[in-house]
Parts: sequence; structure tokens; C-alpha cells
Amino acid sequence: MNSGRKFYQDGLRFQCQGDGKCCVTRGRYGYVYLSFNDRRRLAAHFGISTVQFTERYAVKEDGLYLLRYEDKDCPFLAQGRCAVYEARPWQCRTWPFWPENMNKRVWEHEVLAYCPGAGKGRLYTAEEIEDILKKKKDVGS
Ligand code: SF4
Repeated sequence: MNSGRKFYQDGLRFQCQGDGKCCVTRGRYGYVYLSFNDRRRLAAHFGISTVQFTERYAVKEDGLYLLRYEDKDCPFLAQGRCAVYEARPWQCRTWPFWPENMNKRVWEHEVLAYCPGAGKGRLYTAEEIEDILKKKKDVGS
């Protein structure tokens, strides 16, 4: 019976362990989408214009911008760490609280099994998780 209670009602723990696992291509996680704000923030990080950043680092697919992958992993992953951490895209700022992960089975069998930071450290309340899902905050704020 479905009580309507969300599996994360009591909150979920997450503390990035900085091992870059979520930055390495593995099927559906191999895409990093870039909003206009992401491109603008990253351009400022590199001291270039948003247009220059977009030409250099983005590709457009189905009307959406994505980070351009020259190899199998994110171009900003350097020695297992994010080289643009403070300016990283929204998608990265909200891992692991993505809509497709907010399912008990996925969380327990995929996220917890894959991400060493999931289930550890800071407790995110259900309200915080919902704000992240609504893009009102990220995991670092
Ligand atoms: S931008 Fe940084 S956090 Fe995002 S996938 Fe690339 S290396 Fe990882």
C-alpha cells in the first residue's frame, strides 16, 4: 500500500567525498547540461565571454547546451577532482538530488552503491531536498 510518505521524508545524508565518480561517464550520467547561468558563471571563472566559453566548451543538442566531451570523462575533471568546482554547472551542484534518483529503489540500489558520498555526512531534510529539486538551492548552499 502506498501511504503517500516519501522515502526521503526523514531526510537523506550526502557529503561529497571528492572522488569524482559522478564526473566519469557511465551511461546516462555522461551528460552535463549547461544553462545560460552555468555558461555565464563558467565563462567568468575562465575570464572569457559567455560566447567564447560556449564556442570552446559547449555543444548544442536538441536545443540544449551540453559540455563538450573530447574524451569519455568530463573535460573539467583533473586528476580525479573538479577543476571548476566553485563555478561547476547546476547539474553538478545538485547531485545526487536529481528527480530520477528520488526513488527508493534507485537511491538504494544505484546511488548508494555508486556514490561514496551518498548516505554520509550532512543530513538534507525533505524540505531541502524538495528545494533542490525545484532548483531553489544547491547542495552547497
Ligand atoms: S564540471 Fe566538475 S563536478 Fe561537473 S562533471 Fe565536470 S568535473 Fe564533475
